Amino acid sequence: MIASDACLFCKIIAGDIPGDIVLITDDVVAFRDVNPVAPTHVLVVPRDHAANAAETAAADPALVGSLVAAAAEVASREGLDDYRMVFNTGAGVGQSVFHTHLHVLGGRSMTWPPG
Ligand code: 5GP
Ligand code: ZN
Repeated sequence: MIASDACLFCKIIAGDIPGDIVLITDDVVAFRDVNPVAPTHVLVVPRDHAANAAETAAADPALVGSLVAAAAEVASREGLDDYRMVFNTGAGVGQSVFHTHLHVLGGRSMTWPPG
């Protein structure tokens, strides 16, 4: 497993910082966002550290499939038919934690385009 000592999400994955975990698989972990912006707001993260989704895809393309499949499983468990998946990539569009994470958002109506 690839981890980064300074990384918040690596610490949650390792259990060093508490997280409200909703799904664990061999290669991904999903936990509730500490500052939810929808009734369901879960972050699905790969166990292996990478800075963003494109870096994960370059290192291990199948792992991106695992993230999407886990997001669908989380949505199903939450009873959501409709939900939004978001990978913010870069501080300019709001990325604040530089460990790949797929936001799973649902439980309210949403507008498009996003702000
Ligand atoms: P980003 O802005 O990078 O796309 O998303 C990072 C997300 O991580 C934010 O929605 C933020 O609320 C969440 N977050 C930041 N620190 C923590 C934490 O310590 N625990 C959890 N569960 N979520 C966090
Ligand atoms: Zn990390």
